[in-house]
Amino acid sequence: MQTELDTLIIGAGSAGLAALREVRKRTENFMIVNDGPYGTTCARVGCMPSKALIEAANAYHRRHAFDAFGITGAARLSVDVPAVLRRVRKLRDAFVAGTLKATDALGERSLAGRARLLDPNTVQVGERRLRARRIVVTTGSRPIVPAPWRALGERILTSDTLFEQESLPRRIAVVGMGALGLEIAQALSRLGVEVAGFDAARRIAGLTDEDVHAALARSVGEEFALHLGAPVELTETRDGIAVRSDQVQVVADAVVAAIGRRPNLDDLGLDTLGVELDERGMPPVDPTTMRIADLPVFLAGDANGQVPLLHEAADEGHIAGINAATGDTTCFRRRTPLAVVFCDPEVAAVGRRFAELDASRTVIGEVSFERQGRAVMAQRNHGLMRIYADRESGRLTGAEMCAPAAEHMAHLLALAIERELTAQDLLRMPFYHPVFEEGLRSALRGISSQLANGGVSDLASCDAYGVQALD
Ligand SMILES: Cc1cc2nc3c(=O)[nH]c(=O)nc-3n(C[C@H](O)[C@H](O)[C@H](O)COP(=O)(O)OP(=O)(O)OC[C@H]3O[C@@H](n4cnc5c(N)ncnc54)[C@H](O)[C@@H]3O)c2cc1C
Repeated sequence: MQTELDTLIIGAGSAGLAALREVRKRTENFMIVNDGPYGTTCARVGCMPSKALIEAANAYHRRHAFDAFGITGAARLSVDVPAVLRRVRKLRDAFVAGTLKATDALGERSLAGRARLLDPNTVQVGERRLRARRIVVTTGSRPIVPAPWRALGERILTSDTLFEQESLPRRIAVVGMGALGLEIAQALSRLGVEVAGFDAARRIAGLTDEDVHAALARSVGEEFALHLGAPVELTETRDGIAVRSDQVQVVADAVVAAIGRRPNLDDLGLDTLGVELDERGMPPVDPTTMRIADLPVFLAGDANGQVPLLHEAADEGHIAGINAATGDTTCFRRRTPLAVVFCDPEVAAVGRRFAELDASRTVIGEVSFERQGRAVMAQRNHGLMRIYADRESGRLTGAEMCAPAAEHMAHLLALAIERELTAQDLLRMPFYHPVFEEGLRSALRGISSQLANGGVSDLASCDAYGVQALD
């Protein structure tokens, strides 16, 4: 049986559902195909359950500050890990239920099954052959688990299986200290698991600014062991799984594999499109149109391997959906890069990262949160923020930070960068007292003082008091 469609969407995740919203506004002659569980990676096994786990872990961890606040009895608190995991799943189920509504109402236009491209206009799903004028591919990604590790069975956990656990073993090694691995490792450690974190890279959380990284590694390293800069080997021992890296060996009851995610493209039939694939098997995709070369095929979300973040996946689905439904291939300006890691202190990167800067054209302002007034009051005085600006114009170009409330300050900086503001423009804004943002203001002042026009006599040039209580 062959069906003729205007638009076919492959994958009902966040990108696919964003595409669906746009396609539905323009045609009724569409279908969306999804393989495996519905509900999106974000709601089912990604952003939402991971943050629910982190919130519980942080709430329990807060007891370590009680003494300093003058609150007694912290030592008598305990955590019921199975109850924590049940709450995670309960919240997860509610979030998933919300996303299911988008496809449940579609009737026959929503098809369950694995799609495979036969050519740029034809897709096979089981017995059905679907022809479409344009195709949007939003097939997402999956955790990478090296083949030899699979022999260790259920003791190799991933973000797909972690939240399904009824309880947690005593010792867990987390391999991969990028955003996902670090978030999981710290949460598990704060819930009382003996955690060791490994990464072949020298830096964690995707940071490229060595100073910010040093502050983060110092802070996180006080909570659990970090073994960086050497690849890891796993072997079965009588006592558990031996995780070996360079000179270090740790025995764990389970290992969380967080070494990255692979786009779900391997079995999709990209080779039938007639475009050259790169060494990773990826076709050329224009990030402003999401179009593959000049084909009527669009590739959006984690599947294209560009920026595997939820808001980017949603934007890309939106762009692909509009272009697929209209056939116009409009170019869209992409947003200022913004990434947050929900560890403590939070990590954020905005705009250009340190590694992308031209050092000769850049001035850097920084602030440590170790003595920042509000952070000290809250017993959250860890971290370092570094903000980058253009030396000539003072225009803000980017920032990397690990800091309390980094998620909020990063949004403020993203707004400033998006609006092409200078450090002085931002310094003219009001800063309430006492707030974490006063730390950000100190970093901006550091930039302003290095600029040729930094001393202009207006409110932007107000100096810091130089005292903890007021800055
Ligand atoms: C643990 C974890 C935490 C995260 N935390 C955050 C966070 O805090 N903030 C953030 O911004 N991002 C976070 N992310 C990333 C975010 O979840 C993803 O970027 C986003 O969900 C990607 O959406 P997508 O639509 O591209 O893919 P998905 O939601 O994975 O959708 C792809 C769909 O396509 C289906 N599919 C695959 N192959 C086929 C086929 N051949 N035929 C038909 N269907 C197919 C899949 O089964 C799936 O249903 C996190 C991810 C993880 C794993």
